[in-house]
Amino acid sequence: MKLIEDFFWQTFLEEIKKIVTPQQFQTWFTSLIPLAYSNNHLDIQVPNIFFKEWLEKHYIGYIQKAMVNVTQSIPTIKLHIEKANSRVTNPAPLEESDTNSAIGGRLNKEYRFENFIVGSCNRLAHAASFAVAETPGQAYNPLFIHASPGLGKTHLLHAICLSLIERHSPLKIVYLPCEAFMNHFILTIKTGNWEAFRQYYRDIDILAIDDIHFLAHSQRTREEFFHTFNALHNSQKQIILSSDCPPEEIPTLEERLVSRFKWGLMCSISSPAYETKIAIIEKKAGAWGVELPTDVVRFLAESITTNIREIEGAIVKIVKYASITNSKITIGLAQECISELVKNKKPISIEQIFKVITSKYNIHLSLLQSKKRMKSISFPRQIAMHLARRLTSLSLNEIGGYLGGRDHTTVMHADDKIHSLRKRDRSLNELLQKIEAGLQKQENFR
Ligand code: ADP
Ligand code: MG
Repeated sequence: MKLIEDFFWQTFLEEIKKIVTPQQFQTWFTSLIPLAYSNNHLDIQVPNIFFKEWLEKHYIGYIQKAMVNVTQSIPTIKLHIEKANSRVTNPAPLEESDTNSAIGGRLNKEYRFENFIVGSCNRLAHAASFAVAETPGQAYNPLFIHASPGLGKTHLLHAICLSLIERHSPLKIVYLPCEAFMNHFILTIKTGNWEAFRQYYRDIDILAIDDIHFLAHSQRTREEFFHTFNALHNSQKQIILSSDCPPEEIPTLEERLVSRFKWGLMCSISSPAYETKIAIIEKKAGAWGVELPTDVVRFLAESITTNIREIEGAIVKIVKYASITNSKITIGLAQECISELVKNKKPISIEQIFKVITSKYNIHLSLLQSKKRMKSISFPRQIAMHLARRLTSLSLNEIGGYLGGRDHTTVMHADDKIHSLRKRDRSLNELLQKIEAGLQKQENFR
């Protein structure tokens, strides 16, 4: 297949920039890849089915217009889904909703789309949130975002609401942490004013509930939420939910709620890659008016592996410490500041990793450590090497030593292989994230 000329594609993007907002450009166009252009036909690769549907529905006219300006003819355009991502949930588009009255509150003004760094870890969740903010009630209902703590769920929920308030101010938008919904419910049990409670929630245009997994704690609140959900959904009002885990993993959640939470679009956020972490650190430091030296930025990205909230905490600590002691921000100071944070995270042992992998793949440890090369053994072995690289402080040689005396290049190769496989294979990535989170949790409870 003939590759499209870079110049041609850049000119096309410049044309698009003229007709969409910078935020729309950033969300929908920066991840497109030109595949081929010939006989007046353009093939474009998009990250997933969600992008494909959204672009076809909302932007195909713009794409065509931009192409006409570049080529002076009317081309046909086909969007292709990146192979590894062809399985994303089945979104159910809604009819247009009616739009009236009022506003909600307690939103952090810093949690805007403009301040959210997009990487492969959160591309779908960001695009889906942006889509809901662009056309609430018409896009995906409910929008369900799940991720481990500290990866940006609340940020996205606030960004949607802030953007909606700016653009559709007559809408009644309510953002609530799940606990606030539960407290409101408990208060109503005391006062008995059900009329007011129901009126409040049924009269909403957009309901965003953060940390919905807290529903696990109260059967009666779940019952009431079920009715609220139905009432809003039936009248095509937008519902946005965030959770620490997918619906089916929320303990005690009834099947009828599990299935409703999956009606719209479900998306997850995974741990950010190194480059994304670097961008986030720079953005956050910039927001506080601080420019961190490159080696400090790198040090932070390397030392804090998953949680962005921890990264932020570390930056604040460094900046404060430097200003109190009136010293320059150096790598030494950064190390000193976060040594506690790193110290508190006891390293995970390679034995723990072996234990999880052997039980997950149902093979004996001696086989994992053997020279056998069948895929059913070598694959789990490569995963063990990859996890050992990420979660322990062992050297390549040491890890090789634990796995039948393999040399450092074998371990490096395995680590690279699984690392790039995770980028392409969503389900493998999710599985490994779960294993990592499990191992980290075990550590915390030891
Ligand atoms: P969660 O609700 O998933 O626990 P938050 O939304 O509270 O996580 O995010 C934790 C912190 O990390 C917030 O300050 C948020 O602004 C920041 N953060 C998370 N993801 C990003 C991102 N992609 N870009 C910029 N900041 C982010
Ligand atoms: Mg949160």
